[in-house]
Amino acid sequence: MVKAEGVCKRFGPLEVLKGIDLEVQPGEVMCIIGPSGSGKSTFLRCINHLEKVDAGRLSVDGELVGYQQKGDKLYELKEDEVARKRREIGMVFQRFNLFPHMTALENIMEAPVQVKGSTKAAAREFGTALLHRVGLAEKEKNYPRQLSGGQQQRVAIARALAMSPKLMLFDEPTSALDPELVGDVLGVMRELAEEGMTMVVVTHEMEFAREVADSVVFMDGGVVVEAGSPDDVIRSPKHERTKAFLSRVL
Ligand code: ADP
Ligand code: MG
Repeated sequence: MVKAEGVCKRFGPLEVLKGIDLEVQPGEVMCIIGPSGSGKSTFLRCINHLEKVDAGRLSVDGELVGYQQKGDKLYELKEDEVARKRREIGMVFQRFNLFPHMTALENIMEAPVQVKGSTKAAAREFGTALLHRVGLAEKEKNYPRQLSGGQQQRVAIARALAMSPKLMLFDEPTSALDPELVGDVLGVMRELAEEGMTMVVVTHEMEFAREVADSVVFMDGGVVVEAGSPDDVIRSPKHERTKAFLSRVL
């Protein structure tokens, strides 16, 4: 579903990604761990067309991100083509960014109606089902300010799912939450994983990574230092940098 080969990204003189290689299979849950500033968010943003890759190849579901291949020539995708591809990927950020003037259900209905051309009735039916799925059936008429951070984040997950994405990206989805609200959000993500969603999750929740991830990638300084099963990377890391990081977060 995702294939990165030598992916590089720089911001001016700052080399942020220095050749990332990894593969995410359909239905796989990959957790990316690593210290702040190691390039985790930048990598997710590259997958989701929010940043352009400078070198290397990055593809989603067999198609190069940002380019179209015709014969042996590459063409940069136009804005509307990029927008179309982005709809196939759901992204959930640390900050939930719900529309404040819309209810929970309206937040979820917005993109299907405005972007995909769903009827309001169909978007409402699917939205209601999604709210039920994230445990918030009774909150559909609530505005974001009337919801806890954890509830807002679950609405944000439902909103991403409303576009029926083939890939979900999570960038530290629980880092901004009070500790007692983290569990509900992780619970929704765990269910999503069990249903077979392909997920790339940047997280500091080591227990979640250990229990839910099929693979764990430790990034540091813009490179993949170590990758493998949760047991390999979290329980018996081989590299000193991984060991040092884990000793700080575990
Ligand atoms: P992480 O998510 O692992 O904390 P980031 O991908 O957010 O790391 O950032 C990696 C590095 O890239 C940091 O040094 C950050 O300051 C820098 N960076 C990220 N985005 C930009 C940008 N748009 N312009 C300049 N520097 C950036
Ligand atoms: Mg980040």
